[in-house]
Amino acid sequence: MVVELTGKYALVTGGSRGIGRAITLGLARHGATVMACYRNGGEAVDSLDKELEQIGGDHRLMPADVTAPDAVEELTEECRERFGALDVVVNNAGVTSRAPIAQLPLAEWQRVMDTNLTGAFLVTQKALPLMGPGASIVNIGSRAARAGMPASGHYTATKAGLVGLTRSLAKELGPRGIRVNVVAPGVIDTGEEQNAPPEARTAIAARTGGLSALGRRGSPDEVAGAVVFLASDLSTYLTGATIDVDGGI
Ligand code: NDP
Repeated sequence: MVVELTGKYALVTGGSRGIGRAITLGLARHGATVMACYRNGGEAVDSLDKELEQIGGDHRLMPADVTAPDAVEELTEECRERFGALDVVVNNAGVTSRAPIAQLPLAEWQRVMDTNLTGAFLVTQKALPLMGPGASIVNIGSRAARAGMPASGHYTATKAGLVGLTRSLAKELGPRGIRVNVVAPGVIDTGEEQNAPPEARTAIAARTGGLSALGRRGSPDEVAGAVVFLASDLSTYLTGATIDVDGGI
């Protein structure tokens, strides 16, 4: 079966870099028209713009901080004006940091909550009026929410929160024909370590790749594959689920 998203309109938050970028490109390559938002822009946005241009289609990139209700309102309003409807919403924008609970400042707890969890709430709430039967919401969680991770209680709490939100929304929106699922990546190589010294890179790669049954880290494209599936009509009986894309940790 061919995954066909032609005629579908998608919104991806945090689409400029890493996993969000791969999701944006994956949806576009399968025929969807994509609106991707980001916070800071820069080179990442320029190069994504060029790649989307090569794929073709009426895609749009726009700055919007998912923690700011007014910005989210503008973002979804732009989707309404350009697309008229949304078939796919991917809550991908996320931030993280590491700190043992004893040293975690309240402001940092709040920043991570605001982006990862409240951001998904705001975007979903504002996007819903544009969504109808057959639409699909995909929340990007983390395998760490289930396994736990030291010095990351704030981060994993947000990702576990997304799972609860997803299960409740699946029940609430199921009668309207809207599906809601989580994709929970394991350790994904987003290229962020490229700036680290080679010996550090090798050590990180060995440690994190060794966690997975496949003996390596995943790529952003491998996460995007699960999102494309959930966005498509191949997954019409899947809702409230969490798909671990973790190489079998
Ligand atoms: P990156 O840091 O590479 O990219 C994050 C993206 O989110 C960027 O486009 C960034 O935009 C955007 N963003 C951050 N904050 C906001 C905000 N307030 N409003 C709008 N956009 C925002 O992250 P990853 O690709 O690594 O992660 C993507 C998702 O996958 C996250 O939810 C993360 O928790 C999850 N994940 C990642 C894993 C990994 O191994 N990488 C593992 C498990 C889960 P800008 O550049 O402009 O700031």
